[in-house]
Amino acid sequence: MTLHQPNSLEARDVAYQLHPYTNARRHEEIGPIVIAKGDGVFVEDVDGKRYLEAMAGLWSVAVGFSEPRLVEAASRQMAKLPFYHTFTHKAHAPAIELAEKLIAMAPVSMSKVHFTSSGSEANDTIVKLLRYRANALGQPEKKGIISRIKGYHGVTLASASLTGLPNNHNAFDLPMPGVFHTMCPHHWREGREGESEDAFATRCAEELEALIEREGAETIAAFIGEPVMGAGGVIVPPATYWEKIQAVLKRHDILLIADEVICGFGRTGQMFGCETYGIEPDIMTLSKALSSSYLPISAVLINDRVYQPVADKSGEIGTFGHGFTASGHPVAAAVALENLAIIEERGLVANAAAMGERLQAGLAGLKDHPLVGEVRGVGLIAGIELVTDKGAKLAAQPPGSMAAKAFGLIQERGVILRAIGDTLAVCPPLIVEAGHIDRIVQTTREGLDALAASM
Ligand code: PMP
Repeated sequence: MTLHQPNSLEARDVAYQLHPYTNARRHEEIGPIVIAKGDGVFVEDVDGKRYLEAMAGLWSVAVGFSEPRLVEAASRQMAKLPFYHTFTHKAHAPAIELAEKLIAMAPVSMSKVHFTSSGSEANDTIVKLLRYRANALGQPEKKGIISRIKGYHGVTLASASLTGLPNNHNAFDLPMPGVFHTMCPHHWREGREGESEDAFATRCAEELEALIEREGAETIAAFIGEPVMGAGGVIVPPATYWEKIQAVLKRHDILLIADEVICGFGRTGQMFGCETYGIEPDIMTLSKALSSSYLPISAVLINDRVYQPVADKSGEIGTFGHGFTASGHPVAAAVALENLAIIEERGLVANAAAMGERLQAGLAGLKDHPLVGEVRGVGLIAGIELVTDKGAKLAAQPPGSMAAKAFGLIQERGVILRAIGDTLAVCPPLIVEAGHIDRIVQTTREGLDALAASM
């Protein structure tokens, strides 16, 4: 089927959908690839072409695309209680059990879970919780939040403000007041000539401290960061970075939010990115691999420092005035519980560690490619940054054009990656096997060779 056949899915898509993160005019010209089904690490389009989904959808389908246990868990819960809410002293077993499970799994002592349905909603909720807490504590000035250039935290007005990418700010009149961005910890791009990772991390921490002192620590509630930056281009923190950042935050009594939306549940080779990097957060954001994205669900974990003041304050009408109809949705919660059971029973975190080593070693072999500037990653997440001149680290003009072409050439060859600026991202399902990893690496090389030959 093609776009030019009237009534094809492609033509109807162009006729009726405005897509997220898509160039609308270009979409009118080229139309979509319509995905019909998925199994394991593969998806198949309506014409029967199969792709190895090396991005796990949107960094999210941990257990693969056709897990019958998740279908059964959803169907069981649908039949029993398809919906109930968690407002005004109501509860149901799936949300209770999932909250208990997440508190038990958390890498640091956490007190309570608040459910939402997307990463953006979760981070938006955190911004509001911090305002509420500051008011409760009688510190109405202490509401500012620091995030990082190239951090990704979502697209609602508050979470898009936390995100540190121009595409999410410029045409939306963002960021909103009270959000500050500190430097991106990308040693290869931002490090000075001869500067060690350790020295660079010191500079990152000093810049953060200078920002805090400029704004006044009494006006800053929290710092938010992904253990490894994902959607900003897969940026792995330099050695000693998190240790130094946390020391600055402690000194100024600023809470730490770990946005584990991508890193959580095994991606970095340990259950949480916080464990991989020795991060001790006060608040955690979880989503994506929480349910393998089979249904939308996200969670905000808070420790007692956050919970107690919030619990003490009851708003003007005696309640915490925040919550979504679908908060803690029972079917999504039941699917998440089953998904976490599968991750544990099948040892998918250990698989991510083992397959991650194979992926990183395989991709490291691309470093000698004339178009590859840097290969970076940890566990089952990696980025390959393309350049036109290796020595000068020169990016393509216009920016991102080379990675977009490489992405297309690789996709034609049956492997789906993601182009983020000049970087190709790789983030396969946690069930990935050695043969799949080898195919991802091999196909990426072939795509890059084809690109080099065309230039
Ligand atoms: N935080 C991080 C770290 C993310 O990667 C994402 C999504 N890519 C979000 C938040 C936002 O999640 P959602 O798209 O579900 O709103």
